[in-house]
Amino acid sequence: MGSWTRMVVLLPFFTSTFCTPLINELEPGKDWPTRGSVKQPYNQTDDVQDPIEASTTTSELVNETPSSGKDELEDITIIARAAEGNAKVDYSGAQLWKVSTEKNGVRVILGRLKRRNLIATWAGNQTYVDVLIKPNAVANVTRVFSRENISYDIIIDDLQKRINEENPPLDENEIELQNRRGHRMTWKQYHRLQDIHEFLDYLATTYPKIVSVNTIGKSYEGRDLKVLRISNGNPSNKAIFIDGGIHAREWISPATVTFFINQIAENFAEESEDFKGIDWYFLPVVNPDGYEYTHLVDRLWRKNRKPAYAGRACFGTDLNRNFGYRWGGKGASSNPCSEIYRGSRAFSEPESRALSEFIKTSAANFSAYLTYHSYGQYLLYPWGYDNAVPPDHKDLDVVGKNIAEAIQKTGGSKYSVGSSSGLLYPASGGSDDWVKAQGVKYTFTVELSDTGRYGFILPTTNIEPVARESLAGLRILASYVSKL
Ligand SMILES: [Zn+2]
Repeated sequence: MGSWTRMVVLLPFFTSTFCTPLINELEPGKDWPTRGSVKQPYNQTDDVQDPIEASTTTSELVNETPSSGKDELEDITIIARAAEGNAKVDYSGAQLWKVSTEKNGVRVILGRLKRRNLIATWAGNQTYVDVLIKPNAVANVTRVFSRENISYDIIIDDLQKRINEENPPLDENEIELQNRRGHRMTWKQYHRLQDIHEFLDYLATTYPKIVSVNTIGKSYEGRDLKVLRISNGNPSNKAIFIDGGIHAREWISPATVTFFINQIAENFAEESEDFKGIDWYFLPVVNPDGYEYTHLVDRLWRKNRKPAYAGRACFGTDLNRNFGYRWGGKGASSNPCSEIYRGSRAFSEPESRALSEFIKTSAANFSAYLTYHSYGQYLLYPWGYDNAVPPDHKDLDVVGKNIAEAIQKTGGSKYSVGSSSGLLYPASGGSDDWVKAQGVKYTFTVELSDTGRYGFILPTTNIEPVARESLAGLRILASYVSKL
């Protein structure tokens, strides 16, 4: 069924691309504009003006330490390993602690524990870090914290229990609905990649006038990188690119991006003129190998699945450290075992390369780029590589704050807005920095819910509320883009 569907989907795409203009008029949404030549890159000398006065030094945050010299071992975070033969990684007894970092020296101690492979860090800001404690290290770390007088709260006392409860099977009513709909996608469950891809193809088949799907490349393990486009075919449209799932374990991200796709495709006629006047491009799963790996083997896997090099035990590059703008700077590691391994060179990974080549060679008038991650509830704009902001940072700040306001009005979640390096910590090689450097104005990394109660293991009942309030934010972005 897979290849047949693909043929049906792609056939109109090829005909509209290579045949007469009459075909374009009949199915305007099918025409994906490409350019022969590559866009001129953003002027790199312009980007260092207007540095932010960093109120706090954040580069010491342990999970994002610069990769220099002996510090490189600090972020090796192998909390548990699957037994040979890809048995599932078991997190029984592992705990999540919220650790206050306001006391001097706490980050140094966390760094030490991390080097001893007793803990991993999930997320945090200037005042706290969420720390995952390895199952057999709980007593040991408790002793260290008590001796050093470090305050913390136990947020999750058995991580495996949470993982087991996170994604329950659908009830009978939902399964019946699923069977009637023509695709298996719901927003009551975290779905496997196949359900997501079949859903995209379903929409292209069902709404051929506005929806089309194109495979822009393959992952390391050969999975499709599928982009869905929604467009009324007006050649003067601005375009917005949205992706999700760069980090494998952030399941709420592909769930949210597919929710957007569903809402826009199913209700296109009722959308505002602003909204309809945009060409929407979605890549819901940038890292399909990692995503499948989190379903099958290790729920907490973050990177892609390419082996660093032959003979090394460590797999995977952090795709969000592999993009080619200021690659290899702060907050990225040169150690292949690190969670934030930057790769052997910029765009060394097929997934980041395909995404960047698609954006570079598309003639779409990209005016905004949103990349969805979790967690923490942040709207972050460039730059990520260091404490600096682009010349138009005030515009980004205004739009970000308006998006945050719409989110809060709709669903109640409070998002913080700022530059990623200023609000969190420097991290170079991010997709947002690279896209901004291509001249795409409204570029944001969105860290979805929550703020650390469940972290990455967000129960499925949260999918719809999170996605719905995010969609309200997207409508605000669309209104700004249409004004450009
Ligand atoms: Zn992420």
